[in-house]
Amino acid sequence: MSPTNYHKPRKRFGQNFLHDEHVIQQIVAAIAPQSQQTLVEIGPGQGAITRLLADACAELHLLEIDRDLVARLQTLFANNTHVHIHNVDALRFDFCSLTSGSTLRLLGNLPYNISTPLLFHIMENIDCIEDMHFMLQKEVVERMAAGPGNKDYGRLSIMIQYYCQVESVLDVGPESFSPAPKVDSSIVRLVPHRVKPVQVDDFHSFSKLVAQAFTMRRKTLRNALKDLLSAEQISACDVDPQLRPDAIDLDAYARLANCCSISENSD
Ligand code: SAM
Repeated sequence: MSPTNYHKPRKRFGQNFLHDEHVIQQIVAAIAPQSQQTLVEIGPGQGAITRLLADACAELHLLEIDRDLVARLQTLFANNTHVHIHNVDALRFDFCSLTSGSTLRLLGNLPYNISTPLLFHIMENIDCIEDMHFMLQKEVVERMAAGPGNKDYGRLSIMIQYYCQVESVLDVGPESFSPAPKVDSSIVRLVPHRVKPVQVDDFHSFSKLVAQAFTMRRKTLRNALKDLLSAEQISACDVDPQLRPDAIDLDAYARLANCCSISENSD
């Protein structure tokens, strides 16, 4: 890139730009865009991945918060009428407003400083999403994919696995970015479940109970959940109250939450 074309990376926007052509091609191969599909890229930056997607799909929406990068993208894709550039904050964006009959395929090398709240926001839009491919901190992908008994298993694992099937697709080292981040990264593929794997009667109770359990992950469920359920109520859900929060699976959390919503309603 020529010096006049240089964009100084902004830390506050989590700007670590991909420059490794091999990794970029591997990401696009994992996504495998098709000519009739609508793709949405979060944080296209300088267009490292975008360049290879623009001619491979029917519609491409780019959500970029940085106005300077938006101006560059507008120049780069001036002749592509099916590329739509939105100068927005993805954390506040209504993804489903982009659907016109077809579901959306989301992707992005996400800003690591907002990745968890962004994932939770995207899960609220899950009904219009076909699948997602995101570059995240490797440690976050490990937490998303972890099961009971694993040290990485926690609130993020349970909430993401309630919505999606999680698959780690590719590890990417710091040297593939400029500037290089201090952490390793991974690409994760998330495919929303067509039918949820467990029955949750009241999502708010479920979310609250899981968050409460993992604020005290070293305590027993009996202690961690004492404000929400008694030991007897936990046992009645076929869960041992002496277990730690990281020992029980998604199904057990759904049973506990369903007990909670019953006890809240009967208060
Ligand atoms: N996709 C590019 C690449 O791989 O080189 C850039 C990735 S960089 C890690 C993250 C990008 O997300 C930056 O372009 C940044 O400006 C943008 N970004 C940061 N916060 C955002 C937000 N809240 N909404 C939309 N874009 C955001």
